[in-house]
Amino acid sequence: MARTVLKFGGTSVADLDRIAHVADIIAYRAGQGEKLAVIVSAMSGETNKLVGLARGAAGDAINGDHFDDEYDVVVSSGEQVTSGLLALSLRKRGLNARSWLGWQMAMKTREGHGSARIDGFEDSGLADAVDGGEIAVIAGFQGVTEAGRVATLGRGGSDTTAVAVAAALNAVQCDIYTDVDGVYTTDPRIVPQAQRLEKISYEEMLEMASLGAKVLQTRSVELAMNHRVPLRVLSSFTALGEDNPGTWVCSEEEIVEKQVVNGITYSRDEAKITIYGMADRPGTSARLFALMGREGVNVDMIVQANARGEGRANMVFTCTTADSAKAETVLTAQRTEIGFEKMDVARDVAKVSIIGVGMKSHTGVAETMFDALYQKNINIDVISTSEIKISVLIDADYTELAVRALHTAFDLDAQ
Ligand code: ADP
Ligand code: ASP
Ligand code: MG
Repeated sequence: MARTVLKFGGTSVADLDRIAHVADIIAYRAGQGEKLAVIVSAMSGETNKLVGLARGAAGDAINGDHFDDEYDVVVSSGEQVTSGLLALSLRKRGLNARSWLGWQMAMKTREGHGSARIDGFEDSGLADAVDGGEIAVIAGFQGVTEAGRVATLGRGGSDTTAVAVAAALNAVQCDIYTDVDGVYTTDPRIVPQAQRLEKISYEEMLEMASLGAKVLQTRSVELAMNHRVPLRVLSSFTALGEDNPGTWVCSEEEIVEKQVVNGITYSRDEAKITIYGMADRPGTSARLFALMGREGVNVDMIVQANARGEGRANMVFTCTTADSAKAETVLTAQRTEIGFEKMDVARDVAKVSIIGVGMKSHTGVAETMFDALYQKNINIDVISTSEIKISVLIDADYTELAVRALHTAFDLDAQ
């Protein structure tokens, strides 16, 4: 019988009642003959609490993206608790189940503590256990480095554990159970008219995740796309036997009806840095962005324009709010070396994006987007595009208004 991977997020295992419901879902699926590996997150709110404790204990030792390896030891503990609780709950139902921690199934990661990348798996008997009918209850979010230290995969990383395990086990599918019944045209929490998509391509889901839809961690989609893992997002809150088709994340060829725009996302974790009066000559941009790279500032949108002064240019770029503090410090220190007049950092900005593979073959998409924003009197600050997305940077106060206006303008509202 085929192997299947299931993953349950934080709200799905938020308390003992929810864990009991998850155990019922698993018992039902095992009863259908599926060979199961189940990945669990920490109980909802738990990881935030652990991050707060680690930061409190470490003080300045953890700032921005620099993580001490003991940070991972602390924040990974939430998943250990839920894996044990769920295994107990399954055993109570007479099922053969055991918990697997990251180091026990030997999911190897690189050193990058706090956001480590997965390298692969060592043979630990996990596949044999699953084939033998044991339900493997795996702690998500955690792996082990070559040096034998615990490493975590970044926030939302249990999705990535699930897809990595599915790829390693050659599973027929990876079901991501969460608190929504699928991937929606936009975050249903801010647009009640959002609609569940039946299918979405890996490429679109990758853009949606990286542009702010937090329903799946970006890296999990990347992995699923590279390994062609059939991925489904569905609800853990429906009653057993109730209709729960979810959303399939699949290859573009499997989608017959291609929409021009399939999804709208927003991200408030943005900062805009404007550098005025840079010397307009070869090498200035190279020097500026080399410096950002060296400091680990992940630069997103970039716009350069002529400034009023002779031989001068202005540069605008965006990065995450956390990175903007680093950028501000080094730019202030290197002002003379880089050669610019002044700098301004704005953190009250948001990025709103429209995503759809149909954009490749349709014209007028940008016009519809910009007009919808204009109708609401929303000013566009910076624009960036790719083949299947358009993003704009706007005043953060207008985020929800912009998302709703675009949702309507592209005919995505449910009737
Ligand atoms: P889990 O704890 O199961 O990992 P998350 O909170 O990480 O769940 O992700 C689910 C949440 O993602 C939903 O509650 C929803 O508010 C949010 N979300 C944002 N954008 C979307 C979208 N386009 N479709 C579905 N959910 C979305
Ligand atoms: N518990 C971790 C987090 O909250 C990982 C996850 O839930 O995916 O980020
Ligand atoms: Mg999540």
